[in-house]
Amino acid sequence: MEIPSQIEEILDRLESAGFEAYIVGGCVRDGIMGNPVHDYDITTSAEPYQTERAFSDCRVVETGIKHGTVTVLYKGISVEITTFRIDGEYSDGRHPVSVAFSRNIKDDIARRDFTMNAIAYSPKHGIIDPFGGENDIRSGIIRCVGDPGKRFSEDALRILRALRFSSVLGFSVEEKTKAEILLKKETLRKVSKERTFSELKRLLCGKNVKNVLLEYRDVIGEIIPKLCTEFDYDQHSKYHNSTLYVHTARAVEAAVPRAAVRLAMLFHDIGKPLCRTADENGEWHFYRHAAKSAEIADEILRDFKCSNILRERVCDIIRLHDIPVELDEKTIRRRLAKYGTELYRDIMEAHIADDSAKQPFTLRRTETAREAIRLADIISSQAPCLSLKDLAVNGADLKEIISPSPKMGQILQNLLSEVIDGSLKNEKAELIVRAKELAGKNDISKI
Ligand code: ATP
Ligand code: MG
Repeated sequence: MEIPSQIEEILDRLESAGFEAYIVGGCVRDGIMGNPVHDYDITTSAEPYQTERAFSDCRVVETGIKHGTVTVLYKGISVEITTFRIDGEYSDGRHPVSVAFSRNIKDDIARRDFTMNAIAYSPKHGIIDPFGGENDIRSGIIRCVGDPGKRFSEDALRILRALRFSSVLGFSVEEKTKAEILLKKETLRKVSKERTFSELKRLLCGKNVKNVLLEYRDVIGEIIPKLCTEFDYDQHSKYHNSTLYVHTARAVEAAVPRAAVRLAMLFHDIGKPLCRTADENGEWHFYRHAAKSAEIADEILRDFKCSNILRERVCDIIRLHDIPVELDEKTIRRRLAKYGTELYRDIMEAHIADDSAKQPFTLRRTETAREAIRLADIISSQAPCLSLKDLAVNGADLKEIISPSPKMGQILQNLLSEVIDGSLKNEKAELIVRAKELAGKNDISKI
């Protein structure tokens, strides 16, 4: 396995000081899979003070000293180095009451969650894989280290990690591990909202998310009870060929893998059951469900302590997920001015995902939304004037030609909308002429 030279040097340094040292966990898993490694964790027989001594020439931060972790800044990279550890009893279903240091790598490996994450490697000692993790990686299997019931009782977060890994890596969960996940789902209440939400976001961005949402529907219902109203909900609609929850799961997977859009798809129809009406043909309709869904999503996201910026973006996408897709340039310009380029794109992405998850005949509508994105990209690349700050005149310019009045703001707004519509060029001379004209009218708002 190839590892960066700095990591190899850190391992060497610890070994030369008389300790064992390995890379461990996600980096070994990702390395075996041939995936890019985003950070290296090191485990060692050295106790934290011994690690600190070995790196006395470097900056060392005592990040989790009680749990044996220090962070070393070595030649431009920052690496967590943790002492081999045995976790004590777990009393709150989340954290061990105590941890004990060990001199044996096998102890440290045994405390890890899944076999694929329980492999250590060093150039000197090779692969240490007592639980058959490499085999499970090759077969695409997520399996608890030890007894699944006990491991999930110790720490309920592992339930969400299993689902997240299944979604992101496309692995399936081994049978006993799966059975215990379903059995222990209620213990997820012990996991903080922040941690739950952080796992949910990663889960949603996985390539296998549809299967995970469907297979573990009851776990999802446990962390987002309001979604349960979608389960087995037949929409009685000619556009749909699946129940509301299945449509939702399909739409999530069809969306670009960005948290804002995928969260929006997860909640885009959650308000439907509350907006149902039936027509004389027995067809159901869900007028104003987008606004209702945005309202519910807002509550859920607040409860998850989601950042304001992400919450607002998700709710905007949901609120606008069913606006008609228009391809004329004027409308697109107006929308870009109103929503901003990024939100406009996200709304079109939501259309694509939504229509990909309905009856096959709605698929062609995804082409229209794609075309709208293409046109929006062209318009944006021409540095268009879409807001007052882009306008070639400002309030100060107007003051020179017309006497200051409350009308001024309205005149600027009118100039801007005419520029956005393309009926006026964003050039100072032209804008001034038009401003004078507008100033002469009595009721500008009607122009
Ligand atoms: P990624 O960094 O991609 O999320 P990872 O496996 O590296 O994946 P981390 O949260 O960085 O996950 O944890 C590093 C390692 O620590 C894991 O590979 C696993 O061995 C162990 N680990 C993490 N969380 C737990 C847990 N809740 N219970 C047991 N072991 C855990
Ligand atoms: Mg990691």
